[in-house]
Amino acid sequence: MDCIFCKISKKEIPANVVFENEDIIAFKDINPVAPVHVLVIPKKHIESVVDVKDSDEALMGKMIIAAKKIAEQMKISESGYKLLVRVGKNGGQEIGHIHMHLLGGARLYENIRPA
Ligand code: 5GP
Ligand code: ZN
Repeated sequence: MDCIFCKISKKEIPANVVFENEDIIAFKDINPVAPVHVLVIPKKHIESVVDVKDSDEALMGKMIIAAKKIAEQMKISESGYKLLVRVGKNGGQEIGHIHMHLLGGARLYENIRPA
């Protein structure tokens, strides 16, 4: 399958990986819009929230748990951060493999959005 995030998760193309476990991998966004900008993805290819099944419930929870741990690792838990998931065309989703943006390290106002 020709999916850039699947290729990153299989280490077929390089990325700056900051967290990995059996189900989840997280890496720095190539075009960061905040001092901390990490993308948290399931290793399993799911195109978007639209395609999430009831059986993916635990996996979706694992994305948040991973984000929380990465935030601790990056020392932004106290200052706070934003978790952002775009869905489809009107949501501005550009990559068709579900991902959660972890954004922090500076005050992020609601009108500031990653590319
Ligand atoms: P979306 O707009 O789909 O929510 O976010 C896609 C994000 O993926 C963008 O912030 C973009 O900078 C990032 N991105 C796109 N291609 C790559 C890549 O090859 N490597 C990394 N690390 N990030 C990427
Ligand atoms: Zn994929």
